[in-house]
Amino acid sequence: MIEMVLCDLCKKRKAVIKIRYAGLDFCKECLSKFVEQKVMLSLKRIGILNKLSGKYLVIALSGGKDSTNATYIMHKLSQEYDFKMKAVFVDEGIGEYSRQRRAIVMDLCRKLGIEYRIVTMKEEVGISTPEAVSILVKSRSSIKPCSVCGVFRRYLLNKVALDENADYVVTGHNLDDEVQTFIMSLIRGDIRSIAREAYSSGCEDDVPELVSRIKPLYLVYERESLVYFITHGFKRTSLSCPYARFSMRYAIREMINDLEYRRPGMKYRILALKERLGKSIREKVLSNIEIRHCKICGMPSSRDVCRACELKEFLVKLSQNYKGIYTK
Ligand code: SF4
Ligand code: ZN
Ligand code: ZN
Repeated sequence: MIEMVLCDLCKKRKAVIKIRYAGLDFCKECLSKFVEQKVMLSLKRIGILNKLSGKYLVIALSGGKDSTNATYIMHKLSQEYDFKMKAVFVDEGIGEYSRQRRAIVMDLCRKLGIEYRIVTMKEEVGISTPEAVSILVKSRSSIKPCSVCGVFRRYLLNKVALDENADYVVTGHNLDDEVQTFIMSLIRGDIRSIAREAYSSGCEDDVPELVSRIKPLYLVYERESLVYFITHGFKRTSLSCPYARFSMRYAIREMINDLEYRRPGMKYRILALKERLGKSIREKVLSNIEIRHCKICGMPSSRDVCRACELKEFLVKLSQNYKGIYTK
């Protein structure tokens, strides 16, 4: 007979998750409070909670578990802290995967009564992610799909936020994402990214015209986010992005999960290191960066041509061999 494990906090309800780094089992309700308290803590840590009144937030909603949770929690807070928000869905054009995600986003926004805006990569950038991948594969480029798709998604999100005159951009990055990004920056020797990501949020504050970011799930483990999502009964798609497994992030994610399994709390320790290291080099590294405007699109950039336009030009050059997949 399987014994029912009770929640260590309320001691009444059935546990749905074991939080290994704390040695505690939580029921659905206590996990929910735990996650929402972490969100409050991460907003307080960066001194943003009391500044939200009257502000306009654009939230990147992909239809995945993290951005769904972030949207749901921020929507609850919007009533108490009196701010407005709009969801933005970037459609990468990845067939059924993008179609299902788009439907989930529209459904969630209608249920919560949140305004939303949909932008498609094909219309805005001139190419969808599968078309970009096709060009990269045919030209035997070593650039991975997520490197292209991620750059265009960030670019479009910032563009929409500027267009909407938003005060903040909210993203669903969780603690695991932050740790993975840090390790990837270390591997690449990307000091600038480590300096920029020193704080849990507002990492673009030092760059005029880039809208400051808020990451409500910054202190929430991916596993906690997943169980929060499932126990709240949010709609999900069974499809994963077909390109995700080619990214370096995927391999790093496996490695860090293994480390966390052997040493519970490891992710927290890496996150603390990320902040300490970032803060110690931030001033020196970022003071040398001059922010200009991209010669092509006019968006703020530390280079003459921003990364998105550079990628677009690169794909156009490659696609000239492949009869006009690229339309802009
Ligand atoms: Fe784009 Fe990579 Fe995300 Fe797929 S997993 S949607 S390719 S960034
Ligand atoms: Zn409980
Ligand atoms: Zn540009």
